[in-house]
Amino acid sequence: MLHGKTALVTGSTSGIGLGIAKALAAQGANIMLNGFGDVQGPQAEVAALGVQVDYHGADMGKPAEIADMIARTHTVFGGIDILVNNAGIQHVARTENFPVDRWDAIIAINLSSAFHATRLALPGMLAANWGRIINVASVHGLVASAEKSAYVAAKHGVVGLTKAVALENATTGVTCNAICPGWVLTPLVQKQVDAKAAAQNISNAAATRQLLGEKEPSMQFTTPEELGALAVFLCSPAGNNVRGVAWNMDGGWAAQ
Ligand code: NAD
Repeated sequence: MLHGKTALVTGSTSGIGLGIAKALAAQGANIMLNGFGDVQGPQAEVAALGVQVDYHGADMGKPAEIADMIARTHTVFGGIDILVNNAGIQHVARTENFPVDRWDAIIAINLSSAFHATRLALPGMLAANWGRIINVASVHGLVASAEKSAYVAAKHGVVGLTKAVALENATTGVTCNAICPGWVLTPLVQKQVDAKAAAQNISNAAATRQLLGEKEPSMQFTTPEELGALAVFLCSPAGNNVRGVAWNMDGGWAAQ
């Protein structure tokens, strides 16, 4: 379905981003990967799906590096048809104790990066009159949790950005939507499970049950594969008129 198209997925060396990159690759899209840590493993996993894959190590907190990644994607693949703004980090602390540098980093990486990548990818999409911008927000783009002020502010901001971009392009072939996962067992969440286990001296399994039980009625993690399937739907012809939505996949979290 996506043969001949190119997807740039930020923060795709791990977790949800890698899951979405693989789901789009399985539909035939060429992939520009981005993120830190091991690169060769994710590159091989995507290449095994029979598409072209490249990697750019832009730090999504740095606008000049984002611009370089967008330019490189155009050079290597001839354009960007699908932009998935996924890179993100977390820090947990009460607001009065929240380190200022963590606030700035979360706003830059989780929110401003989506603005920068979107503003630079849009002209090419509009010239082609086809494009898909998918912002990986969070259920924290819809509701809040204590001790996550920067993350909640950034993710609510991503949902707002999604709506504004969707409206500006509503009469074109370019759509913009947000995906709002509940808990997904990636390194970002494993750290929060580990912190709970250590703080209360309980097992990993008990900490996991507690984490899910506090927020997620299904008592199940959403998977990167499920989120990948939602991204594929948004890229399909059936997604042509889905514009400006914030679609949660959260086991009932936000329904409470
Ligand atoms: P993860 O830690 O597994 O992956 C994050 C990715 O972003 C990695 O590839 C990492 O290298 C990359 N990254 C981090 N900082 C970066 C930077 N400055 N520049 C470039 N890349 C950077 O986390 P994840 O859980 O897969 O999170 C992906 C997205 O999903 C984030 O935006 C997160 O907020 C969101 N999300 C996660 C959950 C969850 O439960 N895991 C729930 C809702 C939303």
